[in-house]
Amino acid sequence: MSACTGREILSEVLGHLHIEVEASKILKTSICIPCMMPFITSQFLRREKGDRPLVVPKGSKNLAFMGQFCELPEDVVFTVEYSIRSAQTAVYALLGLKRNRRPFTRESSTRASSIRRSWRYTTSVRDNRPQRCV
Ligand SMILES: Cc1cc2nc3c(=O)[nH]c(=O)nc-3n(C[C@H](O)[C@H](O)[C@H](O)COP(=O)(O)OP(=O)(O)OC[C@H]3O[C@@H](n4cnc5c(N)ncnc54)[C@H](O)[C@@H]3O)c2cc1C
Repeated sequence: MSACTGREILSEVLGHLHIEVEASKILKTSICIPCMMPFITSQFLRREKGDRPLVVPKGSKNLAFMGQFCELPEDVVFTVEYSIRSAQTAVYALLGLKRNRRPFTRESSTRASSIRRSWRYTTSVRDNRPQRCV
């Protein structure tokens, strides 16, 4: 991929999209500049507790970390929300405001309840108990 020209990358994309008839016109009239993002997957590397600094390190009074590489327990990186929540965490903590950052989404609770639902459904099938599936 890194050795491809922009034209080659665009040809590949058009192929995947099954755009054949208009392909040569699109290629002739488009400018495609390849852009390497070598560190983009760094956010998804395995990480241990302590690898990333807490938003407000212990004892810090005027320094905080924001963005994608600080630790927000349970949260999901590569989202705008992660940066927003880290900034909120930093501001609320350093200004001593008694406010909570935006919640991590309903997913965490829905995930638990959907696992419960799936388990109920699975056991009802196993035990041959008809169950209304919601
Ligand atoms: C292709 C792509 C698609 C994405 N799609 C989504 C999506 O659909 N949904 C989603 O939630 N997230 C998405 N993201 C992730 C999202 O864009 C980032 O998580 C978010 O923008 C991070 O915000 P940030 O403010 O922490 O950092 P950034 O938006 O990266 O802002 C950092 C800023 O600091 C500036 N800067 C850097 N170094 C210096 C310096 N030394 N001095 C001064 N300024 C500096 C940079 O120019 C930049 O403007 C996507 C990212 C990419 C790359």
